Amino acid sequence: MQKFKKLYEIQHCYICHAPLTAKNYTIDHEPPRGRVGVSAQLPCCAKCNHDKGMLTADEYAIYKVFNAVRCGNKNPEYIEFLQQIISTLKQRRR
Ligand SMILES: [Zn+2]
Repeated sequence: MQKFKKLYEIQHCYICHAPLTAKNYTIDHEPPRGRVGVSAQLPCCAKCNHDKGMLTADEYAIYKVFNAVRCGNKNPEYIEFLQQIISTLKQRRR
């Protein structure tokens, strides 16, 4: 029943907001297990979960920003995605 329910609930990756399917669905621990703090379990796509590794969500966001600058990625959707991350980080620091 639990599995059946999952197919009908459209969930999105909490990092990149990609829709999650049975193939790419993973649970990320934020902060990662082994780091300081109590981990929350969040739905995450397999790619973000793998890329993120032992980084926290904030560290991963910074890593993505640096990577985009380094690669000169000018995809408007990607730039918008990064701006969203940066504004989320700014709000959290207030
Ligand atoms: Zn993702």
